Amino acid sequence: MKKLNFGRNVQIDSMSYFTPNTEAEVLDILNKNKGRSIRCMGRLHSWSQVLDSPDILLDLSHFDSVRPNSDLAMSVDVGAGCQIKRLLSELEGKTPWTLPSVGFITEQTIAGAISTGTHGSGRHSLSHYVAGVRVARYDSQTGNAVIVDITDGDELRAARCSLGCLGVILSVTIPCRPKYLVEEHFREYEQLDDVLSAEQEYPLQQFYLVPWRWSFIAQHRRESEAGTSKAIGLYHWYRFLVLDIAMHWLILLVVRVLRIQVAVKAVFRWLAPACVIRNWRVTGPSSSQLVMEHELFRHVEIELFVQRHQLPSALLFLKNTLAASACLQDDLDDKFRNQIAEASCTDKLEQLRGRYCHHYPICVRKILPDDTLVSMASNEGIAIENGTDTESRIGLSGDEAWYSITLTNYDRGHRRNQFEELASFLCKSMKDLFDARPHWGKLCPLPTEALQSLYPAFNDFRRVCDQVDKDGVFRNPWTRSLLRSELSNEGLSQLNP
Ligand SMILES: Cc1cc2nc3c(=O)[nH]c(=O)nc-3n(C[C@H](O)[C@H](O)[C@H](O)COP(=O)(O)OP(=O)(O)OC[C@H]3O[C@@H](n4cnc5c(N)ncnc54)[C@H](O)[C@@H]3O)c2cc1C
Repeated sequence: MKKLNFGRNVQIDSMSYFTPNTEAEVLDILNKNKGRSIRCMGRLHSWSQVLDSPDILLDLSHFDSVRPNSDLAMSVDVGAGCQIKRLLSELEGKTPWTLPSVGFITEQTIAGAISTGTHGSGRHSLSHYVAGVRVARYDSQTGNAVIVDITDGDELRAARCSLGCLGVILSVTIPCRPKYLVEEHFREYEQLDDVLSAEQEYPLQQFYLVPWRWSFIAQHRRESEAGTSKAIGLYHWYRFLVLDIAMHWLILLVVRVLRIQVAVKAVFRWLAPACVIRNWRVTGPSSSQLVMEHELFRHVEIELFVQRHQLPSALLFLKNTLAASACLQDDLDDKFRNQIAEASCTDKLEQLRGRYCHHYPICVRKILPDDTLVSMASNEGIAIENGTDTESRIGLSGDEAWYSITLTNYDRGHRRNQFEELASFLCKSMKDLFDARPHWGKLCPLPTEALQSLYPAFNDFRRVCDQVDKDGVFRNPWTRSLLRSELSNEGLSQLNP
């Protein structure tokens, strides 16, 4: 059975495909397929090899119930295959609650979203909030399929973002919060410092670095008690028709039809920013204010996470890289040239030069540190002494927030190759220079050893995975390689100097 992901860059080719209706059916499938590699799919909205082919593929879309949890106040048990949009509308219709955090879109399933650390802005990732995970896996004594509820300890912190390696997730218990309103408006800034200072006032904000104009357009957001604005309907139509549709058509026109660098640059210097109405303050329910229709046009993304103290240098490095990739002639600034040499990427940059012109606003979001072992915003294992951060040798500090930097690409076919080369360049260089972690669910072209070395708690994650799945049957080729060997002594001494 062959399946393509949303971005059409990963094909899953499994021997068998099942869509079970009940927990008993899942156990039966597991018992009949002992020794085979078994993985689950959500809505295939990941772009990384986390979707690599297994022998058996399970689709849990029939597991979509939403029920209040009987033990934990203001919490729900959500079937693994329930899409976030259905979960939000069930909460909206039947309770005064909503989710503590949502990403750009709500197409993902709850199990798929937590398995790769899906996040929005100004809060933790969804994984952080998970209070319990119900999984089907094999009993280590009898070898028969069993159902286990994971509710605490390292096992829970591993299950909160497990890359699909802890078994078949059947349901997820997630605490909710009372519904709330979000006030939003756009404003443009020249300086990054000014955007970051505005976070005090607008803790839920996200912002865009606009390529070729090199200004910052902030989407200022904060909770509000002011009541829903009268203009909310009009505002959502504006966002949908102008930002989600018209601006994207314009981008598709220059990227896929005209394919002229001058046109791409003109769009971002003048036309796209002109689509953004500044200072129109509108308040509405969080579940609609925080979400865009980013899934309407097929694309691929890479997203890199850096800590707060690395953000200014990381964005400057990215700007220099994009300028160098678009133009063969421009002289490189000395600091940038030294950084490239330090990351041993001089040859790679030369290969990129003049071959790729970036064509989408670069989104930057803040994610508070997660209580997980390996989600991208996890600070697990990073030193904090006496309440003060001490920088470890890998340059991370223990209670700092993370910022994700997303690059989006609308090329198709072989024209995507240049973006993939850029992604591979950025992953390697920004890992070496800024300890940048790629999103597990997006393009992730780093060798598995390099990925391990970015997570001080990676060995704890592997230990949990080995304990609960000693034969590694819940791994695909990529996660098998990721979990294969202990982090080397050299790697460990880097993490714990
Ligand atoms: C248009 C678009 C916008 C996006 N926006 C954001 C965003 O704002 N923030 C963000 O962080 N990410 C974002 N993403 C990435 C996306 O949230 C993640 O890749 C997410 O994992 C996809 O969820 P899914 O349900 O499609 O799962 P899939 O992609 O199908 O699967 C992801 C992983 O979950 C595992 N899995 C799924 N179900 C189960 C189960 N029942 N048991 C065990 N393992 C399971 C799979 O094996 C796989 O390893 C976006 C992606 C797209 C395409």
